Amino acid sequence: MTDDSIKKAAELLRQGATMLSEACPVCGSPLFRLKNGDVVCPVHGKVYIVKSDEEEKQIKKDIMLTSVEDFLVEGLYSTAKKIKEDPYDSETLVQIIRYLDAIERIRKLVPQHNS
Ligand SMILES: [Zn+2]
Repeated sequence: MTDDSIKKAAELLRQGATMLSEACPVCGSPLFRLKNGDVVCPVHGKVYIVKSDEEEKQIKKDIMLTSVEDFLVEGLYSTAKKIKEDPYDSETLVQIIRYLDAIERIRKLVPQHNS
């Protein structure tokens, strides 16, 4: 472990994280479980411990869905900025509503982090 990761690990413990018996598959640092259930490596940040191929597939899907949500939010933001220039452009408003609709739908598919 580098000085930096030791510092980070100490910080995690101070925040109430617990040290796990599993090690990071990439760097071998001990992993920590945060209060919100996320597992993090002090060097790599968030990591996923999978126990089966099925679980790995599910996690990959969740990560992709989260990325799609991010793209939609970015699209919504850049579209919404057009409203500033032309508040009465109904086409822009329709686009915004479509984005909001899509975001709402994708949020139903992305698991909320409350584990
Ligand atoms: Zn690591």
